[in-house]
Amino acid sequence: YRDLRVALLGCGSVGAQVARLIIENGDELAARIGARLTLAGIAVRDLESKRDVELPRDLFTTDAERLVQGADIVIELMGGIEPARGLILQALQGGADVVTANKALIAAHGPELAAAAEQVGAQLSYEAAVAGAIPIIRPLRESLAGDHITRVMGIVNGSTNYILDRMDRFGDSADDAMRVASELGFLEADPTLDVEGYDAAQKATILASIAFHTNVPVDAVHREGITTVTADQIEAAKHAGYVVKLLAIAERLTAADGTDGVSARVYPALIGRDHPLAAVHGGKNAVFVEAEAAGELMFYGAGAGGSETASAVLGDVVSAARRHVVGGPGISGSRHAELPILSVGEVSTAY
Ligand code: NDP
Repeated sequence: YRDLRVALLGCGSVGAQVARLIIENGDELAARIGARLTLAGIAVRDLESKRDVELPRDLFTTDAERLVQGADIVIELMGGIEPARGLILQALQGGADVVTANKALIAAHGPELAAAAEQVGAQLSYEAAVAGAIPIIRPLRESLAGDHITRVMGIVNGSTNYILDRMDRFGDSADDAMRVASELGFLEADPTLDVEGYDAAQKATILASIAFHTNVPVDAVHREGITTVTADQIEAAKHAGYVVKLLAIAERLTAADGTDGVSARVYPALIGRDHPLAAVHGGKNAVFVEAEAAGELMFYGAGAGGSETASAVLGDVVSAARRHVVGGPGISGSRHAELPILSVGEVSTAY
């Protein structure tokens, strides 16, 4: 087999598992791809940090820029905007394909990065950026590309789903549910991104942009978190036959004045107890898709976790690697249409 040079940026929860899978599954992946994935190096901040997986020391570097040079595939798992954005642009301009799980970056700079990839015919993929292990980006972008998607509703934040689920199933107060979620590691040290819906809003941006082949900026997403939800409200919803879930919703709508556009929104919504999304318990994620020809589809599974997320990352890596072997254009450059973004005033809030 010929070698494909893979540069890994970041070796935290996800990066360490990606490195493990590339090394442990090397032979199987080589047979599947028709080329061998060779880890050229792993960029980190601190060479002395303890890693989740034991990896050869000589792979590690703090010089990410240098590592990116000459790579065939760059995997960005550092998180944050910079230096991730600059390194991805550098990689694309150098002709490498890029795989990332960085939802914050894609939500803020997805169109810029996709344009950079298209310019050089490279592939930019980010299956892991929404709902971790669950295949959802590729189904929306590719499998359903011939259909007309009307609505996407996702439980895309496991921490808030865990909290709301405890309140619904065990009658916990909001404070108690938060405390247990925190003790079990479901919440970050600063839970604001999760409980105020910022994380879900980043994913709503990505889902809306992909599902409707347009660009929906993150500041156009209507956002409400779960901090105002009370145990009494959950109880009242239950009596009325509903469960409260924090949903990221992307929808094709026609406004009262006839404008055809899209709406992207995040809020604690009422779901009928017989809706498939009502059965998504604990920290799990799910995305429910409605399309004109396909009808209803649901994608369910783990929305986070090192090895779970690494599975989605590796899928993108294998796809990029195959492209190096058989050729063909990258998938990042699917044609876009500009659609007006409609305000949240007119939409239904119970499903
Ligand atoms: P971690 O914080 O666990 O790891 C980040 C890694 O990046 C660390 O190895 C760190 O180095 C390295 N790093 C950070 N900044 C720099 C820098 N400036 N230069 C070089 N290396 C740097 O993150 P995760 O693995 O949890 O997440 C990675 C990405 O995946 C994020 O974008 C996240 O949103 C996304 N994601 C994560 C999921 C999860 O379950 N964890 C789920 C879905 C997506 P060092 O170790 O030396 O500090």
